[in-house]
Amino acid sequence: MLSVHEITELSEEFETKTPQEIIQWAADTFWPEIAMSSSFQTQSMPLLHMVTSLNRSIPVFFIDTGYHFWETLMFREKIASEWKINVIDLYRDHRWDVFAKQNIRSLPLEDPNLCCYLHKVQPMQKALKDIKAWISGIRRDQTSVRAHAKILELQENGLLKINPLLNWKKSDVQEYMEEYNLPAHPLYEKGYKSVGCAPCTVAIGVNDDERAGRWAGRGKVECGLHTDMFSKKDIADVQNEFHLDITKVK
Ligand code: SF4
Repeated sequence: MLSVHEITELSEEFETKTPQEIIQWAADTFWPEIAMSSSFQTQSMPLLHMVTSLNRSIPVFFIDTGYHFWETLMFREKIASEWKINVIDLYRDHRWDVFAKQNIRSLPLEDPNLCCYLHKVQPMQKALKDIKAWISGIRRDQTSVRAHAKILELQENGLLKINPLLNWKKSDVQEYMEEYNLPAHPLYEKGYKSVGCAPCTVAIGVNDDERAGRWAGRGKVECGLHTDMFSKKDIADVQNEFHLDITKVK
């Protein structure tokens, strides 16, 4: 068990290490209580390649929100099968089923924070409960929130979040993709530089920021996985925050 002081020191030390060195340390330290998450978009491919090249058995969490593009689901199937990796699909808690189905069209547009919580954050919270370390692919150049992230981040519940690509730029992703001849998400060529759920993703221009097509024009830049995921403890907290009637979502 690492102390807070040790984590802070290691995190600073890792600022000058390569992603592969950080991943190797993480696997050596935490296996088998370690997992990574992936959204199977183009920018996810280098991390997926690095981690699964080291250990194909490491669980790869994929959040199946039910709102994905068909191309994302097909790409996830293709990579999982060809690379023979251990992909685990995560789904929303069934207690939300009736509410989610009743609001299936309006929810992403009218209340995207709640939609992201019940389709992404809560399933991930549950999946991460039984492990000690979570490898994530965020980069500092992606959003203003991510710009302040650390390579090692101790979460409120004791989980260690590891961000090996934090210092990478978009160009590093492109170089790695070319060096290892990795496949791109099928929508990348059509202008979807960052691909999330279909109701919340649009194609962008060549000079736009990579994530400009996510929740475009709606004042939202993060789904919650990389911000306040562990500040929400349970379904009841969310019902209070979003002023929901608990009887409607049971
Ligand atoms: S990205 Fe959009 S559709 Fe997907 S969970 Fe968030 S709000 Fe819902």
